[in-house]
Amino acid sequence: MAQRTIVVKTCDVHGDDTDATDTVAFGIGAERFEIDLCDQHAGELRETLARYAGLGRRVRAGGGRSPSNGSGAEEPKRKGDRARTKYGFSGADLTSEERDFAVAQGWAGRGRIKDEIMQAIAEKRGIAVA
Ligand SMILES: [Zn+2]
Repeated sequence: MAQRTIVVKTCDVHGDDTDATDTVAFGIGAERFEIDLCDQHAGELRETLARYAGLGRRVRAGGGRSPSNGSGAEEPKRKGDRARTKYGFSGADLTSEERDFAVAQGWAGRGRIKDEIMQAIAEKRGIAVA
């Protein structure tokens, strides 16, 4: 016997038979949510979230966990994502101006930056390095 199942999404806010035209995903803290909404309520939610999102800092989804790690196991703790240097900043923290400077000094644009270049940038920043 053939069966045909039709899924009709309804607006979760309306709570009646109002059709949901949109599914909005959002997160608060570590919790992820998905809600089916009609045009009106999807618009309201997006407008409200946009107000805060526009003021917030963007954070990479997944808490920085490597997408290749499908085991679900916790990654071994690394000693900080960014290498701490005696200068208090690393190549990842450079402004585009400082990157240009470092490249002009012979840095490849990625990887470790030579001490003398870091030293020069630190001096430009007014950081006294012992
Ligand atoms: Zn609604």
